[in-house]
Amino acid sequence: MNKSGAVLVLSGPSGAGKSSLLNKIIDDIGECYFSISTTTRPIRTGEEEGVHYHFVSVEEFKQDIEDNNFLEYALVHGNYYGTSIKPVRKALSDGKLVLFDIDVQGNTAVNNRLGDITTSVFITPPTLSELKKRLAGRSTDSQEVMDGRLKMAKREIQRISEYDFLIINDDLQRAANLLRQIAITARMKTPNNEINDFVQKWEDIEQ
Ligand code: GDP
Ligand code: ADP
Ligand code: 5GP
Repeated sequence: MNKSGAVLVLSGPSGAGKSSLLNKIIDDIGECYFSISTTTRPIRTGEEEGVHYHFVSVEEFKQDIEDNNFLEYALVHGNYYGTSIKPVRKALSDGKLVLFDIDVQGNTAVNNRLGDITTSVFITPPTLSELKKRLAGRSTDSQEVMDGRLKMAKREIQRISEYDFLIINDDLQRAANLLRQIAITARMKTPNNEINDFVQKWEDIEQ
């Protein structure tokens, strides 16, 4: 069977540990493609164009919206973030597991479009005070930006029930083991068209 790819969505408050966890497991999960989002937020120290994000101006982003280049896009913490459709389509047709680090709005949009091949996981730190500590420890954001992200975290957590899995990122190694298992299983999701083909073959067999 010509297996098509699958999707794993990771969401969670800023500072939850999504990037740290992905970095820990990415080499273990085989053929996968990390979707590099396009964003209008300023580049952080340590980030590289084309590795963490494609950094663009608001004008360029709006042009991409007009050209229908996004699978989904959203305004998050006052900046635009979007997933380009082309590389995702290519990775899926190569049978890869496509990994998205997107917010809760993005998860809804991806589920609407690719629900039958999508698994979603919400990652959260154990407590809000731990989140505060981690954001401060990462020291990539100003106090104002961190305050905004903490406020958002409270709202995002209200939507955990929209996800297939919840990982509480207390111990990094333990959380990474859980994410690895979820990623391995996510790859096995069978798209509707393959299920229909399989059922059709059974129906075609004469009794
Ligand atoms: P982080 O939360 O510290 O990793 O900060 P980022 O600036 O990298 O991400 C900000 C938010 O935007 C997070 O909630 C991401 O999940 C979300 N995000 C990133 N890329 C996308 C995207 O392409 N689409 C959507 N919908 N959300 C995205
Ligand atoms: P996200 O990608 O979700 O915004 P990061 O992966 O950048 O989060 O993690 C935020 C900060 O918290 C980083 O400085 C990271 O080293 C730290 N961190 C992540 N997971 C843990 C953990 N389980 N225990 C302690 N610190 C952690
Ligand atoms: P940060 O600015 O800290 O890198 O990301 C902030 C939030 O934006 C995170 O929750 C991240 O998951 C989300 N995000 C990043 N890229 C995208 C995207 O392409 N689409 C959506 N919807 N959210 C994104």
